Amino acid sequence: MKIGWIGLGNMGIPMATNLLKAGYSLTVYNRSREKEKSLIDAGAISAQNPASVLAASDMVFTMLSNDAAVKSVFEGPDGLLSSDLSNQQGKLLIDMSTVAPETSRYLASITEKQGLEFLEAPVSGSVKPAQDGTLLILIGGKTENHEKAKPLFEILGKMSIYLGGPGFGSSAKLANNYLLGLHIQGLAEAILFAKKNGISPENMLTIINEGALGNGLSKLKTNSILQEQFPAAFALKHLVKDLGLAKDAGLDSVLSTPLLNSFQQASEQGLGEEDIMAIIKSLKK
Ligand code: NAP
Repeated sequence: MKIGWIGLGNMGIPMATNLLKAGYSLTVYNRSREKEKSLIDAGAISAQNPASVLAASDMVFTMLSNDAAVKSVFEGPDGLLSSDLSNQQGKLLIDMSTVAPETSRYLASITEKQGLEFLEAPVSGSVKPAQDGTLLILIGGKTENHEKAKPLFEILGKMSIYLGGPGFGSSAKLANNYLLGLHIQGLAEAILFAKKNGISPENMLTIINEGALGNGLSKLKTNSILQEQFPAAFALKHLVKDLGLAKDAGLDSVLSTPLLNSFQQASEQGLGEEDIMAIIKSLKK
């Protein structure tokens, strides 16, 4: 089985590296070519464009920023679906990016029209689970394609959950990231409120982490908060995108609009490339 991988960002690099380590032959492409280096050094082959990745592979994964990026990699010049596909029939394209449910349904339809197969597989979990191969993979598409890709999902994640046709994986992902946004916003607000009343972030984080409110996320973000350093594991701009996609998909609740506004404002203040936890810098202002 020859694998193709397009999109070597914070998530794509560790995920593709794990497939390579598991012994798969891997052809990679990234728009900024220098990000291919660590993969090429580890034995991957570099392709000139997405169409060449498809020609060299039986199954191609995409892990890209947003809907526009995924659409351009599928449909753009030299894109996955741009060339004569008569000898590529039945190949499986798997999009693991977080996009709108509508985009996944669209990609499924244009891919299948050309005689290829499509599966959506967005992930829950950030860079550390991507490195450890413990992502949670949310599947939308045909069950037979899920079965075909399962051996690879078992390398990338601890579990892949089948949710229904194209769009269901993205819908679950957007609901999950809404909760993620609420957790991060709440954690930041609680730390700042406590600090205003003389409780140090160290003490407040100990209270949170040692009590029932401590969770994987609060523990993961503790060092960043204490050191006031927020290198992107999950870039804040991506959460703004996801909250916007959730709104477009019908999320209209008491907290959804203020939450989106808060992260949008942080992004406008220049924090978009930093980690989501950098929301605390924006709230401090
Ligand atoms: P990232 O570090 O920003 O990487 C984005 C990738 O998309 C890069 O390879 C970038 O190429 C490529 N790209 C962007 N626009 C493009 C275009 N127009 N044409 C071709 N390539 C393009 O993002 P990430 O953190 O890896 O996240 C990837 C996806 O997973 C996003 O949808 C995100 O919401 C989702 N996600 C992220 C996390 C996380 O914790 N980071 C967790 C779960 C899900 P360049 O290198 O050329 O810019």
